[in-house]
Amino acid sequence: MNQHISYPEGGEKIKIDGDRIVVPDNPILGYVEGDGIGPDITAACMRVWDAAVEQAYGGKRKVHWAELFMGEKAAGLYDGDYFPEETQRALEDLVVSIKGPLTTPVGGGFRSLNVALRQKLDLYACVRPVRHYAGVPSPLKHPEDVDVVIFRENTEDVYAGIEYQSGAEDNKKFADFLKNEMGETFWEDAGFGVKPISPFGSKRLVRKAIQYAIDHNRESVTLVHKGNIMKFTEGAFRTWGYEVARDEFGEHTITEEELYSTYGGKRPEGKIVIKDRIADIIFQLMLLRPNEFDVLATMNLNGDYLSDACAAEVGGIGIAPGANMSDNVAVFEATHGTAPKYAGQDKVNPGSLLFSGVMMLEYIGWQEAADLITAAYQKVVTNGIVTYDFARQIEGATEVKTSQFGDAIIDQMRGKVDLEKYQQQREEAIEQERKEREERRVKNPLEEMVASGRIPHTVGDLMNPGPVSVPASTTVEDAMHLMRERRISSVICQPESDGGEWGIMTQRDVLSRIVSANRSPNSVKVGEVATRPLVTVQVDMTLHDCAEKMSTGNIRRVVVMDANNQPVGIISDTDIFASVEQFGLPE
Ligand code: NAP
Repeated sequence: MNQHISYPEGGEKIKIDGDRIVVPDNPILGYVEGDGIGPDITAACMRVWDAAVEQAYGGKRKVHWAELFMGEKAAGLYDGDYFPEETQRALEDLVVSIKGPLTTPVGGGFRSLNVALRQKLDLYACVRPVRHYAGVPSPLKHPEDVDVVIFRENTEDVYAGIEYQSGAEDNKKFADFLKNEMGETFWEDAGFGVKPISPFGSKRLVRKAIQYAIDHNRESVTLVHKGNIMKFTEGAFRTWGYEVARDEFGEHTITEEELYSTYGGKRPEGKIVIKDRIADIIFQLMLLRPNEFDVLATMNLNGDYLSDACAAEVGGIGIAPGANMSDNVAVFEATHGTAPKYAGQDKVNPGSLLFSGVMMLEYIGWQEAADLITAAYQKVVTNGIVTYDFARQIEGATEVKTSQFGDAIIDQMRGKVDLEKYQQQREEAIEQERKEREERRVKNPLEEMVASGRIPHTVGDLMNPGPVSVPASTTVEDAMHLMRERRISSVICQPESDGGEWGIMTQRDVLSRIVSANRSPNSVKVGEVATRPLVTVQVDMTLHDCAEKMSTGNIRRVVVMDANNQPVGIISDTDIFASVEQFGLPE
């Protein structure tokens, strides 16, 4: 029996069936209004969410809200308990909830209430969509290019709380162990933080990110890491991420390496590209080429930095939404704090909580209601009706209160938003951008790959794809025409019979074996002058190994073979030279 929580009559609970949630038309959703500015923004947002659902479904669907208690309100009701047991049970029981910001109680036995919530419910994924809304002030020239969803791991990394303070007894024990047993060296009295990163924790996070990309027709998932320095934690995260993609989503995914080596930069319909980027480079890329990225999967610390930095590109933390999720429970939340100096003034921007609610509506599959709010919000802000924080940045804006801002969105939704047009425009814009990116990749694979932050590692990254092959019976004259037409300096000679050997005929072969020998090119077959056996390398060979093979064999170009032993490209010493000159020798 609950002390203070009761479920509204007429509502039904959301259920979990396998790995899918089953949402009735009258779901009970939990809400925690939060501390400080929490009650102001929660009141305004609940009116907007309800109005959107009413407008989208004409009464056929309705949210039944159950109030849950955390923070100061809970402490008042439950005798000083900031996170009562029954709230935890209700969050699990109701599956989907939303919460305002919470004050961290001083001396309440928690590092932070939000951390306690994540730990107790094992909400292992922090999901932060970051996109620009028309009218919102931004420091970028093209903020509309930013449209990513960040999946940040919530339970591991240096945030796991395994820390030993300088001078403390346990610190000395730990330091002794490291020095005496492990032979490590460090400065005297160093404090320590341990960074656990496990296959289990990494894989479940990446799995969720890939599943999201599949469900939402996203183009790519990028694993963000600093694996070049922290090989067994951040590097391992990258390795495990690729493993999940290959082992569990092989049908749906290709790697970025395959995108270039096998598909020449053209993404096969419906496939999600799995790629990875070094953490520090991703910050630069999210400023310079944000539209290269779609879904980002990160460890805890990198994700913390990255989500706030990306949010700042498109309007800041005042409107950035978020959610924390496990496989069975999702808690959506405002990402800012309680801003105590504004509490009760009906003043602040409700955007962060509002869009967390939009995420929540999308999560339960009520996309039409979510889109109505998004479309109406942009119209209202574009018309210059904003709260104080945006009013400071937009000249000539009309400053309104939190509740008035909510009213303006509701007015806009009631009759004045052409939802279909909004949805169609957004889909067309996304499609158009994808096409443009693909065209660039296909036209100039190497340049695009490098500009998008991928450093060539393997032969497949660097080769010139689509080598031209001819039957051995082709005359040298015909092959010469073909080479001139295609502007290539060699052709590959197909095997003369099953199990026969591939060969190669270069311009030099024609000069030395035909022209200087005074033979007529139309009377000699390519098979007679081609060099065999063809020196080949596998598409995933490293540049280092390829260079070694070339220098040992004293040859200037080799043919690249795929897993089925078919030629898929050619790589020359000049290609490797140019790459190493520009990027250095890859790790
Ligand atoms: P904060 O509450 O986020 O406020 C910092 C500043 O951010 C505000 O003074 C205000 O800037 C701006 N701001 C925040 N929310 C806004 C909104 N909705 N609309 C417009 N501007 C907004 O951070 P804090 O002062 O560091 O933390 C206060 C308390 O919140 C602490 O107890 C902290 O532990 C807690 N906290 C809770 C959460 C959470 O529950 N998720 C997250 C972070 C912090 P201006 O002064 O420039 O107007």
